[in-house]
Amino acid sequence: MLRFIVFIVAAYMLYRMFQNERAKKNEAAQKQKEQRVIDGEMVKDPECGVYVDVKSSISVSSGKTVYHFCSYDCRDKFLKRLTSSSQAEK
Ligand SMILES: [Zn+2]
Repeated sequence: MLRFIVFIVAAYMLYRMFQNERAKKNEAAQKQKEQRVIDGEMVKDPECGVYVDVKSSISVSSGKTVYHFCSYDCRDKFLKRLTSSSQAEK
């Protein structure tokens, strides 16, 4: 009888390990996505707030800062605002 219980427990533990492995994989995929934002592969469009892929975005560098936009529309709006505010400072 004891052997049977040990076998059940062992089988259950193996099953749990397998389930954990799958959960970890799903979690890893989710984390990977979030990591892209943290790593800077995905950046926020400062104009409309949408997240864009750095490689496929429209980027503009202003001094040391690089801005990424989802569209030329956003870029133009942002630049217009940027230049008008910097002119006001002078
Ligand atoms: Zn945008």
